[in-house]
Amino acid sequence: MSALWEDVLRDPPAIREAAAVAVDAALLEGVLMRTEGEPNASDVVNYAPFTLLPSAVPSALFEQAYAVQQDFNLLVDAISQNREFLECTLASTIKVDDFTARLFRIHMQVLEEGLAQSVFLGINRSDYMFDCGVDGAPALKQIEINTIAASFGGLTSRTVAVHRQVLKVLGKSKEASRLLPNNPSHGLALGIAKAWELYSSPSAVVMFLVEEVQRNIFDQRCVENELWNRNIRVIRKQFRDVFEKGSLDDAKRLYVDGQEVAVVYYREGYVPKNYDQQNWEARLLLERSRAVKCPDIATQLAGTKKVQQELSRPGTLERLLPGRAEAVARIRATFAGLYSLDVGEEGDKIAATAIADPDRFVLKPQREGGGNNLYGEDLRQVLGKIRDSPERTSYILMDKIKPQPAMNYLLRAHSPLQVSQCISELGIFGVYVRQGKEMVMNKAAGHLLRTKAIEHADGGVAAGVAVLDTPYLV
Ligand code: ADP
Ligand code: MG
Repeated sequence: MSALWEDVLRDPPAIREAAAVAVDAALLEGVLMRTEGEPNASDVVNYAPFTLLPSAVPSALFEQAYAVQQDFNLLVDAISQNREFLECTLASTIKVDDFTARLFRIHMQVLEEGLAQSVFLGINRSDYMFDCGVDGAPALKQIEINTIAASFGGLTSRTVAVHRQVLKVLGKSKEASRLLPNNPSHGLALGIAKAWELYSSPSAVVMFLVEEVQRNIFDQRCVENELWNRNIRVIRKQFRDVFEKGSLDDAKRLYVDGQEVAVVYYREGYVPKNYDQQNWEARLLLERSRAVKCPDIATQLAGTKKVQQELSRPGTLERLLPGRAEAVARIRATFAGLYSLDVGEEGDKIAATAIADPDRFVLKPQREGGGNNLYGEDLRQVLGKIRDSPERTSYILMDKIKPQPAMNYLLRAHSPLQVSQCISELGIFGVYVRQGKEMVMNKAAGHLLRTKAIEHADGGVAAGVAVLDTPYLV
């Protein structure tokens, strides 16, 4: 695997020439981000970081990841409708994790009131690494599934063209033609458009709920533009706008600033720092409404790390997906070892094992967005401190996945051109729409490959660690 592009990697002048072409191609294709200094203005923009060369991905694992995506869509949807499962699974976590507890309280309140929403839209991204097991053959192992604000479906729709051109400049036209087309933004928009249509109010809008800091706006614009092309009106609002100008009518139709909202697409609301008291009130208002939330709060909870860990217990998948033995087998094949730190003997034992051998594990809190997990010595220290306290139940433990590194260049604005040892993470976008009990759409909508230098244990593109990439199937 690491031998891919070896000839090119030994040719620095060719690399420099290709890198210059690559950066301009990225700007031309719209692989863009706003700058850190001016995250809310488009006067100055730069290219989003990306690899110079596409990275090798084993084609069998790539196909496996696509083949299991509809199963994961069904699973997430089933969890979101299973009140008892969410209640039992999150019981220990919500005692110690305030953020999950607040989400859970809204979930319960909305259920007590009775759901006004009848159309459901899920957009998720299931992320994997290629683990080199003892026999050396790589295996597809899930890192996590993101059920809220899964990003980069837009920008990654535009990176293939960049890598095609780079390969051509490097004299590899044949290889360039082998890069697969990929357009998640189209697939995500299809789901949003379907939900909008089923909501059945032609004058209603799709509302992108966005963060205060909007560096990654172009990624969202790719999806927005797909909706405008279908003559669906899109508005961008923040929690603050909803708090100040949002209301429900007698039928719980949602109005924001005088406009009826058919679909709320969250690109915000996934971490504690997104919320103050007003934002929590806005979130509750949205959840109580009839509008299609992508995701609804139950689906957000279905994406917590605690749920992921409980899914790996024998029998759980079978209970959640009765009569779907093949789907269960496909899903289970992607699971790495996951362990509960709940109070009790099971938790005591695995905590002791992890403290003794921290490099085998990753310690994960109930957080999203990168940079929260603990590894190695940090893991040992933190877990050592809380091993006898209920606080440990706010974390889960996971086997550390160890992919085979490969050489590549990570292109970042204002950074020197230098070769790095890299590992990649493959994400598959899933989209589904359910009306009442009936699934009316269930698709894999494209992929995202992110690559980072091996010295970073954690972190995605938005966290400034990983960069966009394109798979080259081998
Ligand atoms: P987040 O919700 O913060 O994105 P993730 O579970 O995706 O949390 O972890 C963040 C990053 O940490 C991943 O993108 C990956 O690089 C690394 N990571 C997570 N779990 C593992 C694991 N089990 N083995 C190796 N690396 C991991
Ligand atoms: Mg992640």
